[in-house]
Amino acid sequence: MGVYVVTGSASGMGREVAAKLIAAGHTVIGVDLKDAEVIADLSTAAGRDGAVKEVLARSEGELSGAVLAAGLGPGRGKDRPRLIAEVNYFGVVDLLEGFRDALAATDTAKVVVFSSNSTTTVPAVPRRAIRAFLAGDCDKAVRSFRFYGKGASVMAYASSKIAVSRWVRHHAVSPRWAGAGIRLNALAPGAILTPLLEAQLESPTESKAVKRFPVPVGGFGDPGKLADWVIFMLSDAADFLCGSVIFVDGGTDAYFRPDDWPRAVPLHRIAPYLYRFQSFGRRRKSG
Ligand code: NAD
Repeated sequence: MGVYVVTGSASGMGREVAAKLIAAGHTVIGVDLKDAEVIADLSTAAGRDGAVKEVLARSEGELSGAVLAAGLGPGRGKDRPRLIAEVNYFGVVDLLEGFRDALAATDTAKVVVFSSNSTTTVPAVPRRAIRAFLAGDCDKAVRSFRFYGKGASVMAYASSKIAVSRWVRHHAVSPRWAGAGIRLNALAPGAILTPLLEAQLESPTESKAVKRFPVPVGGFGDPGKLADWVIFMLSDAADFLCGSVIFVDGGTDAYFRPDDWPRAVPLHRIAPYLYRFQSFGRRRKSG
């Protein structure tokens, strides 16, 4: 039986994941603002640092896996974009950097990061915010949301989730993660009926937008079923899954972007691995 850390374990999908892991006999170290083994505020660097230290102490430096579910949805308030940036991006990457050695210590660790289908279904997300996140510059990311007025928190949400998904894909394939036996993947849910979505449905403006959004299979997703996907992604079945972003969204992403993906890799990325191009390069050098 393993030891798993689950952030956002007090509510919604994180809570469902924690309950399923415990039912299967594993030990869960939950991290949340309340009702968790480790009480921490992931919106501050000090809170994130404290959470890492306490998890490492409780797990004795060995983790079978990590599920990063703590997150904030787009909501109201002047400070909301910053809060979203801190929790949804830095609350994932700072914790994973802190857990890396403990994950590597078990050789077969699995990590599931909660992304979102807002990564591909929200238009006009500022690219400089994504770049700023990946460069670790929270202030710069937050500054780029100012121009969006009431839409700032939606942009903060979508760009934090794009950035965290790209962080997963970049790191998943590196020797430091894949090479250490750690399988790093992301799950991108659509609208799932949790307290996060319920809060959106209670707001008259947000509720209209949520209800109007096309979901080809109809209705909202069930948090317990999303947790089943996470459990699968933590299992041995995921030994060959690396850097994937799995969309479980009732078909919304496919509805909006049927032809955008799969898309062929650009030639310059693959050329060094293609025999024809290698021999072409050799001929040119020798000739
Ligand atoms: P939820 O609101 O039910 O649970 C989120 C948890 O994160 C809560 O327990 C909350 O206390 C915790 N959290 C928030 N801020 C925190 C902080 N500063 N420090 C520590 N913990 C904090 O939400 P959910 O719907 O279960 O969402 C889980 C994840 O899935 C989130 O990352 C969310 O962005 C993502 N997601 C949700 C949906 C959806 O429709 N519900 C869709 C796509 C993605």
